[in-house]
Amino acid sequence: MRRVVAVPSQLLAQRSLARACARRTFGATQCFSSSILHRQDEKQWSTPLAKQLFEAISTTGTVPLASFMRMCLTGDVGGYYTGAIGEGRDQFGVKGDFVTSPEISQIFGELIGVWFIAEWMSQGRPKEGVQLIEVGPGRGTLMDDVLRTISRFPALANSVEAVYMVEASPELRSAQKDLLCGQGAPSTESKAGYHSTGKYDGLPIVWTQTIKSVPQEASKTPFIIAHEFFDALPIHSFQTAKAVAKPAPNTPSASGSEADDAPTKMEWREMMVSPTAPGTRSTELSSSNYRFNPDDPPAEFQLTLSPGTTRHSRYLPESSPRYRKLKNMEGAIVEVCPDAALYAADFAARIGGTDKNPKSSPSGAALILDYGPSDSIPINSLRGIRHHKIVNPFSSPGLVDLSADVDFTAIAAAATLSSDGVEVHGPISQADFLELMGIRERAAALAKGAGSNKEAAEAIDKAYKRLVCRGPSGMGKVYKALAILPENGGKRRPVGFGGDVSS
Ligand code: SAH
Repeated sequence: MRRVVAVPSQLLAQRSLARACARRTFGATQCFSSSILHRQDEKQWSTPLAKQLFEAISTTGTVPLASFMRMCLTGDVGGYYTGAIGEGRDQFGVKGDFVTSPEISQIFGELIGVWFIAEWMSQGRPKEGVQLIEVGPGRGTLMDDVLRTISRFPALANSVEAVYMVEASPELRSAQKDLLCGQGAPSTESKAGYHSTGKYDGLPIVWTQTIKSVPQEASKTPFIIAHEFFDALPIHSFQTAKAVAKPAPNTPSASGSEADDAPTKMEWREMMVSPTAPGTRSTELSSSNYRFNPDDPPAEFQLTLSPGTTRHSRYLPESSPRYRKLKNMEGAIVEVCPDAALYAADFAARIGGTDKNPKSSPSGAALILDYGPSDSIPINSLRGIRHHKIVNPFSSPGLVDLSADVDFTAIAAAATLSSDGVEVHGPISQADFLELMGIRERAAALAKGAGSNKEAAEAIDKAYKRLVCRGPSGMGKVYKALAILPENGGKRRPVGFGGDVSS
């Protein structure tokens, strides 16, 4: 298991950010006065989801950041990924909100296809039972490039039993089907999800809403890819504060009592989302720790620190020594993503087996590519993204993409805790991974193939450089790759992580 040492500069940063957060809180009331509710009632909401969130919070009290994120991203009423049916909204590309690596260059998906081919070869070229699984496949571009690459290796293509696309968005499911199976290809529905036939090798393609619907059997070899999926999972954010003292009945509180000398007890509080009080100016909301323009008008919602512990703050930050060792430092912040741990544990169980579902011979692999720190705990990393700009994450709920840094160390820990049959490699930078996979050579070959079309050759070169550039505008450093593999005592490194193909 990895060990994470919080370096002093990180602790200092946590302290100053904690101060910023403290200014932002407005008493963190759990209920709202009737005059606030009345005034908010007359308000014009930015989106139908904003109104629904306000009504929900008015009934239940402030909600954890994770609940807010879940409703904004995948909620039934106008969620960013799930709610835009029929509106023809596209999250991806120049006209959308963001661009991802597979959309930048076909080489990205091709190299991931090559990575799976290398793993399949290194694991004895199983002849059947191979599952290709993608979680959060977006437009389907990455899987299309992977399948085209794999189709050049008939022995592997023949071993693939089915391709599983785990996708929450009905619109994106339909876009993926058009791309992978042909425009308007027919599909059938079963208990597991939707089924169609792929254009490469006639492979069966199955869409499910959750990974739990993908068959999990000891005889299967699952090859799993998650690209920019984990950053879209809801996070909880916690901060340490002096425990609220509960005076014991009949205890004299005179100064000089033993209680005064006792070390201050700290507790974890939770960042909750509440409606912004009417009349609040954005300068009053300490937004310095969110990367958006503080001159923007205040959003309809804001973060507040819970006045005491919450159901989640009592167990999530106590669940790992990485968090526990920060507990005595006032103002320490941690972001925790329980869904990420669940997905990592699920991947590991499929590859390595568990006590409950043992696998005599672990097989398969998972490749996770996303952005986040290599070994520290993410803090204050929530961001809103719209039209290629960082915006207030609490504005226009459902129209703004929300994402947070991925805690790779937590993913690695959840995987190895879930299954003794796996080991984890990485995270390493996307630049290192792609360069070791041969991106430079592939880009040169493609550019050569463009012949006299200078513009096309230049576009290939530009795209490749963007994927590996380690500077602030590139994706090479901040994006990382992490692999979950069958346990082999660390003897075999996967390709792209410093190893060679062994077959
Ligand atoms: N991998 C793609 C898309 C990244 S965007 C790419 O790199 O281009 C995130 C993707 O995850 C979208 O397809 C979104 O619909 C999906 N998604 C987000 N939350 C999800 C959830 N809880 N379950 C399943 N899919 C989810």
